[in-house]
Order: sequence, then structure tokens, then C-alpha cells
Amino acid sequence: MCGIVGYIGNGNVYDVLIKGLHRLEYRGYDSAGVAMVSPEGKLKIYKARGKVENLEQYCKDKDLSGCVGIAHTRWATHGEPSDLNAHPHYSDDGRLALVHNGTIENYKVLKDALTQHGCKFHSETDTEVLVQLIEYIKVKNDCSLVDAVREALKQVVGAYAIAVLEKDNPDQIIAARKSSPLVIGIGEDEMFLASDATPFVEYTNEAVYLKDEEVAIIRRGEPLKIVSLENEESAIDVKTLEMGISQLEKGGYPHFMLKEIFEQPSTLLDCIRGRVVEGGRRIMLNGVQDNKEKFLGEKRIVIVACGTSWHAALLGKYLIQDMCRLPVEVEYASEFRYSNPVLDPSDLVIAISQSGETADTLAAIQIARGMGAFVYGISNVVGSSIPRATDSGTYIHVGPEIGVASTKAFTGQVMVLTMLAVSIAQLRGTMTSEQIAQIGSCILRIPRLVEDVLKLAPAIERLSLIYTYARNFLYLGRGYSYPVALEGALKLKEISYIHAEGYPAAEMKHGPIALIDAEMPSVIIAPDDHLYEKIVNNVQQVKARGGSIIAIVTEGDTVIRNIADHVLEVPRVPECLTPIITSIPLQLLSYYIAINKGKNVDMPRNLAKSVTVE
Ligand code: GLU
Repeated sequence: MCGIVGYIGNGNVYDVLIKGLHRLEYRGYDSAGVAMVSPEGKLKIYKARGKVENLEQYCKDKDLSGCVGIAHTRWATHGEPSDLNAHPHYSDDGRLALVHNGTIENYKVLKDALTQHGCKFHSETDTEVLVQLIEYIKVKNDCSLVDAVREALKQVVGAYAIAVLEKDNPDQIIAARKSSPLVIGIGEDEMFLASDATPFVEYTNEAVYLKDEEVAIIRRGEPLKIVSLENEESAIDVKTLEMGISQLEKGGYPHFMLKEIFEQPSTLLDCIRGRVVEGGRRIMLNGVQDNKEKFLGEKRIVIVACGTSWHAALLGKYLIQDMCRLPVEVEYASEFRYSNPVLDPSDLVIAISQSGETADTLAAIQIARGMGAFVYGISNVVGSSIPRATDSGTYIHVGPEIGVASTKAFTGQVMVLTMLAVSIAQLRGTMTSEQIAQIGSCILRIPRLVEDVLKLAPAIERLSLIYTYARNFLYLGRGYSYPVALEGALKLKEISYIHAEGYPAAEMKHGPIALIDAEMPSVIIAPDDHLYEKIVNNVQQVKARGGSIIAIVTEGDTVIRNIADHVLEVPRVPECLTPIITSIPLQLLSYYIAINKGKNVDMPRNLAKSVTVE
């Protein structure tokens, strides 16, 4: 996944790069590094294993002068996290430095060929082959850096976003991308380069998103130039960013995750703004009305996603089946892409990804479109790859999510899927106007109700103390609460490193009930829905085996209150909206347990926010 930053201008290069790396640390933090060229042509490369702060520590007594630079925060795919494998990598003759996000699938073949030509490798990464290949071509053809980059990339199979610096040319950065994101910020007498726009929003709001197989020539004092691998010049499409700097800061919260949990009343308001109209009687979601024939003609919907987005996708299945009476299949994008899928133009595919850059989901989209299916994307990051790769789609509009464990993006995705299901039902006539109005008016109340749920935080913090040292957890739910159970378990695993399993509550008796004892707490999501009586039975079964129970129930519940060890009451909403309400206490529970254990909730080990590698 990795984060890339680049800067050329009159500002303090090192400061811009380090600040940018901090903003991109959500993308990986196995190691960090910078390369800078000073006006007199000295190339300096500093790198350190671990977080960006380790690099800063390492650089304290170093020469940090430079007029151009590139930097990287790594999420290792090839070669262990170490100083040696940290980026930037440099060419054998020390003239080029390169940072890379992605994976080079044919690196072994290229490495063997370069080794035969006498090239010496210093790391175990796939990335190093790029810089060595570019240098080799540059020397062999006696050509410019940009021409060598174009030629080298033609030989590469895989995904890349790269930035290259040349010792003898302190006035330029060459960058390119394919399947990994890269955006260029255009300031006054300065230009920036980054994996997303967050490193430069405080300097400029003008951005150019590089497209696949485009090469950017970023030169001091010259306008940006973009060419294809075949050297054809591309038009420069400058976008104006709306993201503000305050959205990227913690705003008084100790962690981004807590800030993002507490932001949900306002992010959900942003998510539904202008989309639920006439007091809830009508829902207008981008791309549905204008593709009416697709939404009326489809025989089946297939939803592809990964991780938390996959849990939202599973809720999407329940919602669309319920409201639109259409068959829906949900697939992990990483499995779908290699499963020889059967699709045709009568299928509608929905692709969900917070970052809009998830590599597996992007690949699934390409396959689906290749088979003629219409693809509708749901993502958060405006201008990211998925909105550009799909036929139509919409944004969840919850603002930048920095915490690696997704919270506000999950509720935003579920909200969009709810609105999408109602919109399709509107078109297909599978819901009455009274049913639509009942759900629509409740959607409008959700931000207020979420505020009420968040008042549970102090109680959940106290409760978390009892369970901090549990080694395992079960999360159980039925119907709409089953995907919520999966998501609750994932949150706990991700940030507290406690093993947790989400399970359909009724499946317990087919195996997992054997695990229940006094050491195995169960979190049971049991709102008052049409399966309530059924889940009461499951709660009894767990209690009868001596397990302790934390239950999420609808306010006023009297039955489960008398069986469970702890209950957390949430407001009553229509069944299809319970997931948004019941998932919030689970976010808080995992947050407080992880904090009690002293874990870094914003940057859990081995994870990164935006999974732009396979
Ligand atoms: N493949 C490169 C490495 O392992 C970059 C990884 C990435 O982009 O996540 O260093």
C-alpha cells in the first residue's frame, strides 16, 4: 500500500515531506525514508525501520538541505520490514533514487536479467528492480530520465505508483502510475506529489490525478507535463479539492478512531444530505435515476468488496433482497477475480471501497465490465480510482477516514446501501409509498439517534475494563445483525489483537457452542426485530453453558435484560436501519479494550488503511 510524497519548490523540502508522510502513515508504517537532492547535486537518502517518527529521530543530526525530494512510508510486500528494504531505493551507480507503491509481478525475471548484466542488488524488494532497470536503460540508450522511465515501465508487469529523483538534475521529479494512486498538487512556484491529496491540502487545492500508464514530468518553473508510455502528451485536467485541513486533524480527541466514531452524527448527516427529500417520501441517489433502464433491467446483483466494506456489502444483500425482491450475491473481490465468474450484461455489479483504491476490488470491476455488466461504485475518496473505473456510482461523503479501523465509513456505506435499496425499490415498485416514507423519515432521524447512542460511551468504557484480558470473543447476531456481528468481531481483532469470531447466532449449535465457558464472552446483537424471539433462545443457550453475555438491545427490553450479564440499550428504529445503530457500541467497545491494552488504535500492527496491493 505505501504512501508516497514528493515536493519541488522553494519551501523547506524535508519539512513538507515529513509532514506529508505523517498524513499518509495510515497507508503503512513498516519503514519510512526520504531522498533529497541539494542544488549542488548531492543526493541524500535517509531511511529507518518503523514509523515516521523513527526516521525523524534518525535524521536529527543529518544534512537536511535540499531543493527537491521524494519520500515513502512502506507496507512491505516483498522483503521484511527493515532499514535495508526501506524505500527510497537507489541505482547501482548512486545516481537515481526511487519510491514505489505496488508490486512488480515479474521482478524475478527482470532481476535475473539485470544481474547478468552486472547489476548488484542491495535489498530483497521487488521495487529495487525498477530503479536498476531505469538506470540500465538510461545508460544503455544514453537517454533522458523520462524516456528511460517510459521504456522501463513497458517491461513491467504489476502495479506501481513511482517517483524518481536524479542526482544530476535537481530541478525535476519523474512520476508514473498504474493501478496504484498518485495525485499532483499544483501550487504557486511549487508542485507536490502524493498517494492522496492529504499531504498538500494546506498548500494548494489544485490537483491533477494521474491516470494509468501516464508519466508526469514535474519540473521547477515549468508547467506540469504528462505523457503516455508511448510519449503522447495528455491534457492536464486540474480538479479543485474541497477537503479542508481541519478534517485531517484530531480536533481534541486522543485518537483519530475516537474522533471518527464521534463524528458519525455529522458524517451521516452529510451522507444523506440532499438525498432523502420531501420529508423522507423520496430518495434520490446519484446514478440511479439516470441509469433507470439498468436498475429496472437487471436480473441479479453481485456486490464485490473487501474487509469492512464486505460486511457492508452483506448488509446490502439483506437490504436489496428485502426491499427490491432481487437476488443478490456478495463476493470477496479477491476471490471473485480468480473464481472464473459468470456474468452477463443483465447483471448489475456494485463495488464498495472506502479508499476507492482497493486493488482487488478494482480488478473485480475490470473483470465485470469486461463481461458486459454495468458496475456501480460506492466509495468515499472523491476522484479515486474506483469512481473513475465504474459506469456510475456515488460517494458516501463521510470525509477523510484516517484511523485504520473503519468506523464512520462503515456506517456511511450501510447508509448509502440503504438509500440505494430504497431507490431501486422506488423504481421497481416493490415498496409502497407508505413503506418508503416510513424508512425515509427515520433515515432523517438517524444522525440524532446516533448522538444518543454515543452517550453510551462512558458505560462502555467501564464495561471494557471487565473484558480487557479476555483471550477470545464471540459476536453473535441474526438477520441484519449478523453482518454487524462480523464487523464487531473484525474491529476487536484489528485493534486489540484479541481473537474474535462473528457467527450467525443460530449456527452456534452446529459447532461453536462447544467453545462456550466462563472464559469466552459473547457479544450478542439482539435488537427487537422479527427474529427477536429466536435470538432470545440463543442467548439462553449461551447462558446455560456458563458464558458471559454483553447484549445490544432495543431500549425498554425486559427479557434479555434478565438473562445477559450486561445490556447496552439503543433507540428503536425500523429493522433495516438497526445495523447503523447497533454497530456503534461495538466500535466503542473495541476502541476502549484496545486502549486498556495500550495498543496503537490508529495504526494497528501489520495493517494499512488503503489496500492497494493484492
Ligand atoms: N512492493 C514494495 C515493497 O515491498 C512496495 C509495497 C507496497 O506498495 O505496499 O517494498
